[in-house]
Amino acid sequence: MESAAFEAVIGLEIHAQLLTASKIFCGCSTAFGAAPNTHICPVCLGLPGALPVLNRAAVDFAVRAGLALGCTIHQRSVFARKNYFYPDLPKGYQISQYELPIATGGLVAAGSDSRAPDYDIRITRIHMEEDAGKLLHDGFADSSRRSYVDLNRAGTPLIEIVTEPDLRLAAHAAAFFEYLRELLVAIGANDGNMEEGSLRCDANVSVRRPGEPLGARAEVKNLNSFRFLEEAIDYEVARQIEAIETGERVVQETRLWDPGARRTVSMRSKEEAHDYRYFPEPDLPPLVLRPERIDAIAAAMPELPAVWRRRLVESYQLTAADASMLTQVRPGLGRYFEEAVRAGADARAAKNWILGAVSAKMNELGLDDIGPLARAVPAVNLAALIALIEQGTISGSMAKDVFEKMFAGSQTAAAIVAAEGLAQIDDEGQIVALIAQVLTGNAGPVADYRGGKTSAFGFLVGKVMKAAGGKANPKRVNELLKRALEA
Ligand SMILES: [Zn+2]
Repeated sequence: MESAAFEAVIGLEIHAQLLTASKIFCGCSTAFGAAPNTHICPVCLGLPGALPVLNRAAVDFAVRAGLALGCTIHQRSVFARKNYFYPDLPKGYQISQYELPIATGGLVAAGSDSRAPDYDIRITRIHMEEDAGKLLHDGFADSSRRSYVDLNRAGTPLIEIVTEPDLRLAAHAAAFFEYLRELLVAIGANDGNMEEGSLRCDANVSVRRPGEPLGARAEVKNLNSFRFLEEAIDYEVARQIEAIETGERVVQETRLWDPGARRTVSMRSKEEAHDYRYFPEPDLPPLVLRPERIDAIAAAMPELPAVWRRRLVESYQLTAADASMLTQVRPGLGRYFEEAVRAGADARAAKNWILGAVSAKMNELGLDDIGPLARAVPAVNLAALIALIEQGTISGSMAKDVFEKMFAGSQTAAAIVAAEGLAQIDDEGQIVALIAQVLTGNAGPVADYRGGKTSAFGFLVGKVMKAAGGKANPKRVNELLKRALEA
């Protein structure tokens, strides 16, 4: 059987830490990078008698994420104990949500954004839970023999976003994960920092011949980069197809991606839900959300990235590619663009400047965020520079130099133009006088032009520009010279 006859069936489970200052059930700090085991207390350690209290801000973020993904937000959801043993989980159970999660039934519709695939991706559910601690396997003198545990992360609020197995290609899964990352960062729920583990993705992968029921799936855990996700899925799909073609059985299991060897390795046979002995968390009442609270959160939602891109295209006549460049490549460019336009800049000119000279400057300085550049050249100053070009005060090429000086000295374009006498000569009387002078001194070329040798025109323009010290407005020189020669 040809491998082309198989299709991949991919679903994602994304764990996103919520950007609260304190943990989900206690007051301990969620700050990353503290000395090990300094942000812990009886509650997040699960010591006997300690009682959890739900963090209100974590709930608000979970609701935001649910709304952003088109989910139904449930007015009543229930926390559950998920029982398992692991050294990073001192309680012996994780507080999660199981049968009644906070949000279900979302959708990222086909075509709703350039970054999402061109077919519907259904969101099964979003549930809230607490993160576990972290095992430290390296960095200690005795790391070859021992592992250590840091419980600072234990109790950090998480949402888990589960998709239906609607994805068909590894590249689509990676693009969709990028879409989710951008969305969660835009709504302020997550910092998007995948290296620190605040956003991680598990991929459920199986293969089948179209029309067949779902095959046994492998769950590849903890993929913390878009590239790893894509590579791991591609590897899994090829591995499973090969197994089926050689008559092996694909088993349901949990696998890990080994980025060095660029392959997945079996970790354990996959647990079933009943292995966890879920039951309602006895120390927490059901989470009840009044409709007014959900409405208030909905009303305070920021504009979502896909909506923003559509608005940029519609309001400013940008192409979809330009809107993506302004919103997806570097943080802050899109806001800077809109500020410049609000300050009066022509949208097309502002876009060209920002994707041209401004981006080039950021490249040169190795800036990822526009912040430092926007402090030296606020958007309103860029708008004023663009206005000077449109008024003919300076030429486009002079403007490039002025921009450099604006950045270096944090001055306005007008101040630089005035201080350095860069303003173009645009005054008709002055230009006419220069032309008269040039025509008198160049009788030969003038006669050539009048005799039909049109190439003499460019020579005469050059002479006028030279007489003006390069500062005459070239468009005006052309007009007025033509008029003088044809008089
Ligand atoms: Zn604590």
